[in-house]
Amino acid sequence: MIAVAAVQSPEGAPNGAYFACKALRATLSKSGCADRWRAALPGSACYGCPIGRQHQPASAGSSAPPPQERRLTTCQRCGRSDLRIVHERGICISCYNRQRELIRGRNGKGFPPQKMQPLAEFSVATESAEGTITHHHVDARHLAEAAGVVAHARLRRLPIGERLSEKRPGPSIWSKSKGRFVVACPACSHAGLLERRKHDTLHHHCPGCEGRPHGPGWALAVARAPMMLLDVGGLHAWLAATKEELPPNRWNSTGFGCVHCRRGVLQALGAEDAGILVRCPACGEQVT
Ligand SMILES: [Zn+2]
Ligand SMILES: [Zn+2]
Ligand SMILES: [Zn+2]
Repeated sequence: MIAVAAVQSPEGAPNGAYFACKALRATLSKSGCADRWRAALPGSACYGCPIGRQHQPASAGSSAPPPQERRLTTCQRCGRSDLRIVHERGICISCYNRQRELIRGRNGKGFPPQKMQPLAEFSVATESAEGTITHHHVDARHLAEAAGVVAHARLRRLPIGERLSEKRPGPSIWSKSKGRFVVACPACSHAGLLERRKHDTLHHHCPGCEGRPHGPGWALAVARAPMMLLDVGGLHAWLAATKEELPPNRWNSTGFGCVHCRRGVLQALGAEDAGILVRCPACGEQVT
């Protein structure tokens, strides 16, 4: 164990454990140091640094991401990594409390919530080893959050062999009479597939080839963007080409599933000196 000098949180920075890093001549949070160390490239000051190593969570052993990093450490909604994570939802306790206030219509002081952005409905599909598709319904702020919740919280509750999928319930087509995109039946092409939410999943029914649906709750299926699967190289090229601005010095979840293992959501990190890094936290595929 190497002793490091603890220092106070820099002004304006979130509270946490900070120390004076001699190699970078900077004040770093211990978790920020750990993140840099995991992302470090040969030749950089952080690569192989023994202090970075001792700031790793116990599971991490090398600069490569730990395989099967299942326990989330960052909030899939706001990106913070210093708060307790509500694992079932993939979000931090702060985001979770804001969401509850939104649902109840009042905050802790009894007033209507002011700052909360409303959530949108996303659908992310998984496929079983036998080829059965499940469409998971997730209330989230963005697709990256929805994909992260399904990869981290839902896949682990499903049988072994369940994988992320790009499949949609059916193609989206423009309906002149409805003035919006609707979902077409994949079997008979009827424009107007129906959907119904059951717990955390969406079920579909085609009035064209399956007749009248039974039971309440059916509505026109919403044409949603599917989650796409990419490999680390493909996402890296795309981020480089679009010059996407990433919040610096932390792994950011993207809305893209890993086509290699189909169990992880790709993460990207913009390092000042090393350009963009992309990795899959589930299988360890990484590209710089
Ligand atoms: Zn959060
Ligand atoms: Zn049909
Ligand atoms: Zn992967």
